[in-house]
This record gives sequence, C-alpha cells and structure tokens, in this order.
Amino acid sequence: MSQLANQIAVVTGAGRGIGRAIALKFAAEGADVVCVSRTVENSEKVAGEVRALGRKAWALAVDVSDSAAVNAAAEKILAEAGKVDILVNNAGVTRDGLLMRMSDEDWDIVLNTNLKGAFNFTRAFSRSFIKQRSGRIINIASIIGLIGNAGQCNYAASKAALIGLTKSVARELASRGITVNAVAPGFVETDMTAVLKEELKVELLKKIPLNCLGQPEDIAGAALFLASPAARYVTGQVLTVDGGMVM
Ligand code: NAP
Repeated sequence: MSQLANQIAVVTGAGRGIGRAIALKFAAEGADVVCVSRTVENSEKVAGEVRALGRKAWALAVDVSDSAAVNAAAEKILAEAGKVDILVNNAGVTRDGLLMRMSDEDWDIVLNTNLKGAFNFTRAFSRSFIKQRSGRIINIASIIGLIGNAGQCNYAASKAALIGLTKSVARELASRGITVNAVAPGFVETDMTAVLKEELKVELLKKIPLNCLGQPEDIAGAALFLASPAARYVTGQVLTVDGGMVM
C-alpha cells in the first residue's frame, strides 16, 4: 500500500537535487506535492514530474527567507490544497569562505535561507497543523551542523541552529500530535557538491566508510521514513545519512 496516500506535502527547494528527489519519492508513495523553489522554471518542471506520476502538484516560486512572501504562499497553499500534512524544509545554499574573509552578505544569505527559511515555513503552517492535531515536519540539516567544517562557519552555524530549532519545535508541538525531525545528509551528489574539486572528493571518500557519495534518493528515503506511519513515535531526532562518515 502507498505509505503517503491522501497526504499533501510541501517541499521547499524542490526544484533540484535532494528536494526534487523528496518530491518525487513522496508522489510515488501517493502524496500530492506543493513544489517550492526560488525559480518558477524549476518548481514547474518538478511539479510536471509529480503530475506524470499521477499525483496533483502545485508549483510556487517563493524566497523562503522572505517571511511576508512565505506567509502569503502558505495562505494560498492552504486555500488551494485544503490542508497540508507534511512540511519538508529543504531549501538551502552555501557561500563558503574562511571566517576572517567572510562578508556580512555571505553570512546573512546562508543564515536567512537555511535557518530563517525553515522558521518562516514552520511558523506559517504551525496553526493549521495544530488545528488538525497532526503533521510531520522534516528539516534537512547537514553533518556539517554536527561536526563543523573549515570554510563553512556560516553553513555549519545555520545547520546546527536548524537542529536546535527542530528539537525545540518538536517539544512545543508534540502534545498536538505533530512530529518534528531532521535529516543530516553527508556529501550528496547534487549541484551543491558539483563545485567541489576532484582532489577534495578523493580525500572525502577516504573518510566515508561506505566509500561513495550519497545520491538524492538516499536522503529522500530517510525523509519518507520520517513522513510515514512507521515514524509515528519518532520526534526531535536527527537521522544522519552519510555513508557512515559521522558515527
Ligand atoms: P541544490 O541542488 O543546490 O538545490 C537547492 C534548492 O533550494 C533549489 O531548488 C533552489 O531553488 C532552492 N533554494 C535555494 N535558495 C532558495 C530560497 N531563498 N528560496 C527558495 N528556494 C531556494 O541543493 P541540494 O544539494 O539538493 O541541497 C538541498 C538541501 O540539503 C540543502 O538544505 C542543503 O544544505 C542540504 N544538504 C545538502 C548536501 C549535499 O551534499 N548536497 C549535504 C548536506 C545537506 P532553484 O532550483 O529555483 O534554484
């Protein structure tokens, strides 16, 4: 049986990479999907792929860091879809650089997208989750939020804080039947990691016991578990999906 039959999911950053894989995995399991990305081209493209799987899809271009735009989008989504059962806060960016040379702009864009974006969407849907006394919130963090990384103080801070947000909101909403969890991916082959130099990838592989980079579908599988009935009793957790890099 489909694990997400009759469910409606909102996936941010659904236009590419991990978010796209989550949108398609959820659709394959019976969910209708609201695809949110920065550009309408990408959200439309993935919404088309969801429809090709026989599910309903909506495409929205929303900057997750803009709270007014997120509130307006949430209102529109609830009016059009009728309800939302699952929220995946996946939209994220990197702007790497050493601390001493990091600009205010690179700090702000990463924190505002990765952390404030998740806060904006979670707050915008919390009332409807509380009203329906159910909901699954899944935040896509990173192992970098657990262990840090030279050259990524902004990114690591955003993902560590996202884990703090996850645990706090999990405690706040648990009594209403809402679960809030995070997935912490390791290195996954997407546009985000395509920029890494070949030598760095060779060095990285030495630190990954399973000896390969992850695929977007690996992260989608973990998100599906957290959205599924099997995870009914799981909340406030961080599920690391990294080939064994952090253990
Ligand atoms: P990606 O391929 O670069 O895709 C990022 C997605 O986020 C795109 O769809 C993009 O929209 C969207 N996005 C970016 N800024 C946005 C904004 N301000 N408002 C709305 N949407 C925005 O990234 P990915 O590798 O799939 O990563 C997805 C998530 O996983 C991120 O949170 C990332 O930090 C996390 N993660 C990735 C890895 C990895 O190795 N790849 C590892 C750990 C964690 P457009 O398509 O319209 O540009």
